[in-house]
Amino acid sequence: MRISSCAKSNIMVIITAMTKIAVKIKDFSFKYPDATVALENINLDIAHKERVGIVGPNGAGKSTLLLAIGNFLKSQAPVEIDGMLSTKDNIKKIRQKLGVLFQNPNDQLFMPRLFDDVTFGPLNMGLSKEEVILRSKEALRSVGLLDKKDKQPHHLSAGEKRAAAIATVLAMKPEIITMDEPDSSLDPRSQNKLIELLNQMSQTLIIATCNVNFIARVCNKIVLMDSGKIIAIGNRKEILGNQELMNKHGLEVPAQLISDD
Ligand code: ADP
Ligand code: MG
Repeated sequence: MRISSCAKSNIMVIITAMTKIAVKIKDFSFKYPDATVALENINLDIAHKERVGIVGPNGAGKSTLLLAIGNFLKSQAPVEIDGMLSTKDNIKKIRQKLGVLFQNPNDQLFMPRLFDDVTFGPLNMGLSKEEVILRSKEALRSVGLLDKKDKQPHHLSAGEKRAAAIATVLAMKPEIITMDEPDSSLDPRSQNKLIELLNQMSQTLIIATCNVNFIARVCNKIVLMDSGKIIAIGNRKEILGNQELMNKHGLEVPAQLISDD
């Protein structure tokens, strides 16, 4: 079968679109002001729609890596988000593409009423009032908190706070979302609900945690970090299922990946 040059170029356009990189980090290192080297020579490509788990022991550099992706580190080198370098000129556009869920939900919930917390982001994007209300209700509904929209955020339970913080991010409709330890301080039922929610989401997800049992149920691509470096990148089974590798870096094989033989 012969393919015309026009068809070939169309195919190329489709392939390029399909493999478009959401996050690209090249030769990236970062030192905190007290001289702690938190990231060393990081190279990482994350494609759109990928669900990536960043795992590693405490102090591995997971949170710093997420901060680097969000361009929150002081004097950091730029990273590439959806083909744009995170320079001063691009940062506003990047903030609309990239949603960030901080480790502590209280950092995201600061208004007297939950609904105001959720509308805060979309309002700042300059959207119409109707659109802001529509998006905010949709985001709250998707995390199961629409009926609590008038509650004071500090009266919510830990699991509800986490879900509320996720709603504040979802309402901005980012294409890429980073989450720092979203599973922490959640009881098993709240964790299961969060896993269900994450597995329904279609965005590019980048989740840092040391909870391998949680991440094994959400992400297929795994990045193992230790001492500020990327130790290995692979699929869930290759990385999380490798007992020697997991133990060497202070982690365990998730229960669901332990083979019976
Ligand atoms: P993780 O999220 O994997 O636990 P972090 O990214 O928080 O790791 O930390 C990586 C390293 O950077 C650790 O050695 C930590 O002590 C250090 N670090 C984190 N934040 C700061 C900071 N603000 N100032 C100095 N050192 C820091
Ligand atoms: Mg951390």
